[in-house]
Amino acid sequence: MNTGKAHSNRPDVLVIGAGIGGLTIAALLCNAGHSVTILEAQSRPGGCAASFYHSGYRFEAGATVGCGFHHGGPLDILSKRLGLTWPVEPAAVSWEYRDKVHRIPLTRDRSALHAAFPRSVSFLQEQERLADVIWRMSHNVLPWPTRGLGDLLTCAKIFASSIPDSLLLPHFFRATVHTRLKAHGLHDDRDFVRFLDSELLITAQTTSCKANAIYGAVALDLPRKGTYHVKGGVGMVSDTLCEAVKSRRGLISFRNRVRKIHHDGKRATHIETENGQRFKARAVIANLTHESLDEVLEGPRIPALSRSRHLSPNEPGHGAFILHLGVKDRVFRETQCLHFHLLGDGHELTEGGRIFLSLSHPEDRDAAPPETRSVTISTHTDPLTWRRAIESGRTHYKFLKTALTEKIIDLASLHFPGLREGILYQTAGTPLTYERYTGRRLGYVGGRPQTSLFQSPGPETSIENLYIVGDSIFPGQSIAGVVTGAMRLARILIE
Ligand SMILES: Cc1cc2nc3c(=O)[nH]c(=O)nc-3n(C[C@H](O)[C@H](O)[C@H](O)COP(=O)(O)OP(=O)(O)OC[C@H]3O[C@@H](n4cnc5c(N)ncnc54)[C@H](O)[C@@H]3O)c2cc1C
Repeated sequence: MNTGKAHSNRPDVLVIGAGIGGLTIAALLCNAGHSVTILEAQSRPGGCAASFYHSGYRFEAGATVGCGFHHGGPLDILSKRLGLTWPVEPAAVSWEYRDKVHRIPLTRDRSALHAAFPRSVSFLQEQERLADVIWRMSHNVLPWPTRGLGDLLTCAKIFASSIPDSLLLPHFFRATVHTRLKAHGLHDDRDFVRFLDSELLITAQTTSCKANAIYGAVALDLPRKGTYHVKGGVGMVSDTLCEAVKSRRGLISFRNRVRKIHHDGKRATHIETENGQRFKARAVIANLTHESLDEVLEGPRIPALSRSRHLSPNEPGHGAFILHLGVKDRVFRETQCLHFHLLGDGHELTEGGRIFLSLSHPEDRDAAPPETRSVTISTHTDPLTWRRAIESGRTHYKFLKTALTEKIIDLASLHFPGLREGILYQTAGTPLTYERYTGRRLGYVGGRPQTSLFQSPGPETSIENLYIVGDSIFPGQSIAGVVTGAMRLARILIE
């Protein structure tokens, strides 16, 4: 894919990466009249939220569930700002949570959840109240984390205009989901804690003991707000954003990996790509993790960028292992639902002990040949295990890959008997695959674990004209999170 146009080497703004974050900021800045060029390493946009075709199937590179499209949600706000129409339709069930004893469809209406965990109702009501306040306050794109007195005053005004509801918040600023569970006498309800831990792991990248209570409340609210099926694959979100950029005279240069961002300690001076091109711009926006940005920075050492903003060694974040399968349709005949959060018998929530399985829509013939479905299954994994494995030899790496593939297929087969026999095509990706295709150092995905509202990095870096968008900045992972972070940066740059 290429724009077909010659790209300007001196735009106002250079964006590195056409993931959801890079495309969103580019579209907003183009809309405000800036000249913007995006340099993307791959031949297609979307990064972790791309769709791709292989052997007659269309698969998702990572994200499968559309969230944030609800009225007042970040994608809804963005579409109104840019006059976009998203190719989405509301899903009746966001996903089904299944463990040994439960099968809980997570929907806008929570009666099935209440029935499964009757003791949890007061906890869930508190979570809903907290989430409602944050959703309401975020209609204006909260300037969080604050970067000075102006932002503090704006936050204070939004807080004041949301009184009395907002008075609830300070009590929870430093609380974790676990402390709230304890307050409701639920911390020893093993099934409910396991449910929450699994849900938080996919939405906040950490479990109840460490997840901030306010962040956790919003993360747990996604099915209640409603999720969406993206028609034609999740990649259609980035395709729609690409059109928004191009129709506003923004330029996107694919297969153009940035090799170096040169800086003089204060400002980014110019950019070099692997194709040997040189670019200059007034502002540079990196749709990269902090670690990947560090790798391409060339100039005096910038301690603040490399130390405080990186993933903490105590809470280093996660990688993903992903399985793409082509499967006979009959295996899924019993279900209408497209997404499943499946737990195994053990306590392990990563490395295949818990998987997220997504099916292509039964009528989507672009995704899979007749009588088959395209299936994407992912699980959290430690990226360092894969790095060490490849360093100790290809055989060990392949062994690990086969072992985890088998474990995942076993777990999926428990919930979908006949799955193993119904597989017509399969391929797997490890954190090394993510590193190769998304440029994320070591293959860390999903942003940082959301343990504190006060330590989340914002879009600014210690280089004054260099900014970050994407799931490494507040509010972190997901299409909705990344769009929120990019809207925040747009406000900073446009104002
Ligand atoms: C397995 C998995 C499942 C997920 N499920 C969901 C889900 O169901 N719903 C949801 O909302 N979210 C989900 N997410 C999270 C979501 O996909 C991500 O948070 C989001 O897509 C990240 O977007 P980003 O803008 O931060 O960057 P990325 O997607 O990482 O994009 C960065 C882009 O920059 C490019 N790039 C990198 N280095 C360079 C360079 N040097 N030069 C030029 N270009 C470069 C890359 O090629 C890439 O296109 C999932 C993620 C994973 C991994």
